[in-house]
Amino acid sequence: MKKLPKGLRITIECVLIVIIGGIATNLVDRIPTEPKVKNIIYLIGDGMGLSHITSAQIMQDYEPLNMERAEYVGLCKTYSSNSLVTDSAAAGTALSTGYKTKNGMIGMTPDSVAHPSIREKAELAGLATGIIATYPVTNATPAAFVGHVPHRNMEDEIATYYISNEVDVVIGGGSRRFDQRADSVNLFNTLRDKGYTIAFNMDDIKDVTSGKVMTLLNDDSMPTIEHGRDVNFLADATTKALEILTNNSRKNKKEGFFLMVEGSQIDGWAHKHNLSGMIEEIKDLDAAAKVAFDYADKHPGTLVVITADHETGGLTIVNSNRKFDITDHKVDFQWSTGGHTGGMVPIFAYGTGAEHFTGVFENTDLPRIMCRLLGLNED
Ligand SMILES: [Zn+2]
Repeated sequence: MKKLPKGLRITIECVLIVIIGGIATNLVDRIPTEPKVKNIIYLIGDGMGLSHITSAQIMQDYEPLNMERAEYVGLCKTYSSNSLVTDSAAAGTALSTGYKTKNGMIGMTPDSVAHPSIREKAELAGLATGIIATYPVTNATPAAFVGHVPHRNMEDEIATYYISNEVDVVIGGGSRRFDQRADSVNLFNTLRDKGYTIAFNMDDIKDVTSGKVMTLLNDDSMPTIEHGRDVNFLADATTKALEILTNNSRKNKKEGFFLMVEGSQIDGWAHKHNLSGMIEEIKDLDAAAKVAFDYADKHPGTLVVITADHETGGLTIVNSNRKFDITDHKVDFQWSTGGHTGGMVPIFAYGTGAEHFTGVFENTDLPRIMCRLLGLNED
């Protein structure tokens, strides 16, 4: 084959490099990059197993719950480091820090080494953060997103973590841990000095749209819905928190937020084998799920994950020996224990990044995946 003159060869090579380079750049441009997760809304139904959700479906003639809008569904193993059956402290720690621990411990591994929760890491990275619960905000699940103590009953100490942290929005029960403490310190005064709006009913924060807010609606746990709590409490609190977090996050060094919402009292009624009380609490959390999903629809970059810390009561739905009728609510529900059980619990995921939550997971995987999606260190 006749050799091309050297000068022409170089020119052809240069042209080829430019053409191939151009094609490669075009290909890279056309490969869609994964949309970035900016906001996470993490809903936790305390004690909410699959049969609990099924019984809520049965009671509304199998009309779908809002949770069923989830695009991706998974399962989560719940055991703790020292028990097949976890408590809310160890489960909350797993779901917040990504580490298994012993029952009773909050935010630390069995060797008493503290590990930051995803909320603390988000706060440190400059994201706005929030915590909502209907139990005291010092109770096990919310505590695992703010503090680090060897035992869940150290609630006065857990309250002080709301001073050393700066959670943008806190809504729940448990004011006595802030103003009726063994050390007589009034933590509300300290929080006011730090610029917090402190309120004791939702009306008082109606016009608050940004800034740091703590609203504690009861000395101890809030009343259950059966005992008078507003049926839309969690949905309303989630709406208010999302408004404040959205506005705060726009002023922060990093746009985005992390919000944890606990349906705390599903567990309490399941311990007492009160089916109707439990279903009301699930529906309250389910209404908050609608608020979260609707927010994700309007705000691309928002991920919603719903799960439970464990199942409570060993609830089963058994044949009532009657001819099945979808409107027959007299299904036989049976409970096998007054405590928790070790079965897997569901995960429902919606919005940006939801596809990462399909499959079978350890409870410790959930915050780790969320951290990766937010660009935070997962350890
Ligand atoms: Zn329980």
